[in-house]
Amino acid sequence: MELIADLHTHTVLSGHAFSTIRENAQAAGKTKLRMLANTDHGPAMPGASQAVYHFLNQFILPEEIEGVRLLRGAEVNILGDEGRMDVSPEILARLDVVIGSLHDVTIEQADAATNTDRLVGAIESGLVDIVGHPGNPYFPLEAERLVQACKRYEVALEVNNTSMMGRVRPGSRDNMIQILSLCKAEQVMVSVGSDAHWMDQVGRLDAVETLLLETGFPESLVIGAEEGQLTDFLAMRSERRQAALKADR
Ligand SMILES: [Zn+2]
Ligand SMILES: [Zn+2]
Repeated sequence: MELIADLHTHTVLSGHAFSTIRENAQAAGKTKLRMLANTDHGPAMPGASQAVYHFLNQFILPEEIEGVRLLRGAEVNILGDEGRMDVSPEILARLDVVIGSLHDVTIEQADAATNTDRLVGAIESGLVDIVGHPGNPYFPLEAERLVQACKRYEVALEVNNTSMMGRVRPGSRDNMIQILSLCKAEQVMVSVGSDAHWMDQVGRLDAVETLLLETGFPESLVIGAEEGQLTDFLAMRSERRQAALKADR
């Protein structure tokens, strides 16, 4: 399996990341990547840029840098049980890709039922394309209910390279083995991302690749393994986000 997209990366606008978008794109250009998603943290993350208009202003950036297509994205914080988020639908509807995540500094710890309600709420909003790092043991989940919601709403679950390496969100790998087995059985898509906070981590997907191989996960369900499939997924999700915005009005 050759992964050609990194769908989760951060720049200095996230507050605790260290590289610029040019540095990330240049680093991506030195790898096999064909697409790079720029997904800075939403404003509820301490230190992240409060001026959310930078998410929209990504459209002044070139379509391609160093031969790598740039996807304009965000990693929003899920802030409540109804899937409340920290970036408005008006902005999210216009991006290329939206990751929705639970972070320990932006929402309190809770039981599996509550955490699953939070994620399912965000999935049902139509505004989230990818659930970020769902394997995190800090936020236990009802994996079957989550996978069913992703199936119904055609949302992907992320296999996060940083989480797979054991230092950040330790224990994620074991949880992801269970989630991947459910995704495989239910034909639910997964996305791949480095979660780079420094340019040298951009395109680093080795731990993800190893896990996908080890679990015999089908390439056809991996968003980021084939360019045409990724483009189709993004087009479908962009329509869903725009429809969600219209319904919200
Ligand atoms: Zn995150
Ligand atoms: Zn992240």
